Amino acid sequence: MAIADSRQGSEWKDLDGRHYLHPFTDHKSLAKTGSRIVTRADGVYIFDADGNKILDGMSGLWCVNAGYGRDELVDAAANQMRELPYYNSFFQCAHPPSIELSRMLQEITQPQFNRVFYTGSGSESIDTMIRMVRHYWELKGEPQRKTLIARKNAYHGSTIGGASLGGMKPMHSQGGPMVPRIEHIDQPYWFGSDRSLSPDEFGLQAAQLLRQKIEALGPDQVAAFVGEPIQGAGGVIIPPDSYWPEIQKICDEYGILLVTDEVICGFGRLGQWFGADYFDVKPDLMTFAKGVTSGYLPLGGVMVGDRVADALIDKGGEFYHGYTYSGHPAACAVAIENIRILQRENLVERVRDDIGPYLAERWRTLAEHPIVGETRMVGLMGALELVADKSSLARFDEKIGAGTLCRDFLVNNGLVMRAVGDTIVVAPPLTLSHEEADELIGKAWKCLDLTQKAIA
Ligand code: PLP
Repeated sequence: MAIADSRQGSEWKDLDGRHYLHPFTDHKSLAKTGSRIVTRADGVYIFDADGNKILDGMSGLWCVNAGYGRDELVDAAANQMRELPYYNSFFQCAHPPSIELSRMLQEITQPQFNRVFYTGSGSESIDTMIRMVRHYWELKGEPQRKTLIARKNAYHGSTIGGASLGGMKPMHSQGGPMVPRIEHIDQPYWFGSDRSLSPDEFGLQAAQLLRQKIEALGPDQVAAFVGEPIQGAGGVIIPPDSYWPEIQKICDEYGILLVTDEVICGFGRLGQWFGADYFDVKPDLMTFAKGVTSGYLPLGGVMVGDRVADALIDKGGEFYHGYTYSGHPAACAVAIENIRILQRENLVERVRDDIGPYLAERWRTLAEHPIVGETRMVGLMGALELVADKSSLARFDEKIGAGTLCRDFLVNNGLVMRAVGDTIVVAPPLTLSHEEADELIGKAWKCLDLTQKAIA
């Protein structure tokens, strides 16, 4: 019997409230509402214990790129578990799934990437990257280069390294002190600026903040710049076209490492294999997780470019770092099959040429709604901004909680999207059909109406 069928919906809620501490959750307020108990999923839909069918416009947590209900992924995990459910790759050991996946990752990434270090999650990938970056500079004879520069409002995970590198103030305020020598510059959020500059002028100005920060810290102190190609959890902040080329130029000029955090943007989300490909930048390291297995099993990693890999291998000796689940065989087997699905079904190209442009065009129609100030989308990753006044683009009073209100209307009307303040974000599975895209837009419009009425 499936675990979901072993109890009634109300029993699950009761047990959940008594025993389960959820991530990123205020349990006092959860106690008032109870959890939505999700019992199964298929395609782009999730189903809850109350019998609701909900279009998952967030791919779980930005991860179910290949969609739900993939028997191929289930079989890949089961077959591997029967053959070799676990073994590590410490102590001169390896196993075929982790080796095969490494080969495939080398094939789908830029030419500088010939090696990969595995982890169990995005956060662990970030921690690995921080240690690797600092170790690289030790090996290069510049051990003083310790400082990593990231962006405000970035999300890079919840481990102490991830929380420190991320730019979320509420996270910094709990469980500190944070990891030292991490600095943050403003994000390239044109809509959030006073909009006196054109997007491209603004993008250049935002990139120059990196130069200013490097100069202020002392160029010989800076190890790396780290950024999500498009900030996801921060509100799908799509940088102006001028931003990334300028960031690349500045990193090259000062010789600092460039790291893209591809945990959300990787594996086809932007209609290219990786966000760095979309923005045409050449990172030295890329962190990934989520979409590598479409979330079916936990797996993450760091793609290590030759510049860093050569130093680690030639001069590094042993790198004192690794996890019990680094390169877990079942997770790697699922990742292999997941990449094969993306390739076989041309899902990355589909996002670039078909469903991405289609959803983007439909998404733009939401900009006509009286409480929407801007819509934006790249690939299958988008956002809209709720505003109180369409001509001045003034925001709603924070106390209204317009974003949360809208998000709640959405889920109660059969569509998951996420609210980041008053920004509503969307990132559906790459398998979304045109009809499902139409359903998504129809429900979004209806819930914008409901939000507008509720606030009036
Ligand atoms: N980096 C980015 C860009 C993310 O969006 C996330 C998670 O959402 C992480 C890192 C952390 O990944 P995980 O939750 O797998 O630790």
